[in-house]
Amino acid sequence: MAKIMAITNQKGGVGKTTTTVNLAASLAAAKKRVLLIDLDPQANATMGSGIDKSSLKTSVYHVLLGEATIAEAKVAAEKGNYDVLGSNRELAGAEIELIELEGRETRLKKEIAALAEIYDFILVDCPPALNLLTLNGLCAAHSVMIPMQCEYYALEGLSDLVNTIRKVREHLNPQLEIEGLLRTMFDPRNSLAQQVSAQLQQHFGEKVYRTVIPRNVRLAEAPSYGVPALYHDAQSKGTQAYLALAGEILNKEASANKQNLFESN
Ligand code: ATP
Ligand code: MG
Repeated sequence: MAKIMAITNQKGGVGKTTTTVNLAASLAAAKKRVLLIDLDPQANATMGSGIDKSSLKTSVYHVLLGEATIAEAKVAAEKGNYDVLGSNRELAGAEIELIELEGRETRLKKEIAALAEIYDFILVDCPPALNLLTLNGLCAAHSVMIPMQCEYYALEGLSDLVNTIRKVREHLNPQLEIEGLLRTMFDPRNSLAQQVSAQLQQHFGEKVYRTVIPRNVRLAEAPSYGVPALYHDAQSKGTQAYLALAGEILNKEASANKQNLFESN
């Protein structure tokens, strides 16, 4: 069954989209079947996957409004062997249109249900806001991955996000877990980054991924070619870090499955 992860942080520019695109490509490189859902009207994950947002006829917008299924609206990433449910500016209007509709927070969840056996991973790139679009991502997901930069205000923003996740769990999606916190754009020479990183580990322990994503120019360049960094510079530190993250996630899944098997016997 597909593992559904929402990549979320209401703070802008922390590396959500870079993580979603490069993790999708890294999991696909490990022969996993991956669907990337772009829930952000900025459509950076769509463009970063080599898909022209202005030429998209059906998008996540139509899926949320019940005008298309994901199977009808998805397209293949230009490179990287994963599928994309794309987005464009139209999605900005969906926020308002959704308010009127029944089950407005769970519309994505309903549509994803049909795909549970088709994919191994469904990664949902959320916009930088705790809005109705992000709520659709959180309701559809099994877990949340939180990319964050290790800087002074990061921890403050994190407590808002953790509260939101708690509320979603209480009212809308009891199964929702925090999958992990991912340190992005990390510069080990920066002593503040080191301190914040240490605090994160103290507070969240095992929930902090061991893999750290370094600041790496190849990761920033790749979207301008419409490819994940793996197809821009496979040897770069950024590419290698996302491959390691995929490995860490796959190992975690494998040991969780083993544990389940053990408990059911
Ligand atoms: P938004 O909140 O606007 O959706 P985001 O959280 O999705 O932003 P990204 O778009 O992934 O963040 O990253 C913000 C900027 O930082 C982009 O220009 C991206 O190319 C760059 N960037 C992300 N991660 C790295 C990295 N590890 N090294 C260097 N640049 C990076
Ligand atoms: Mg983004």
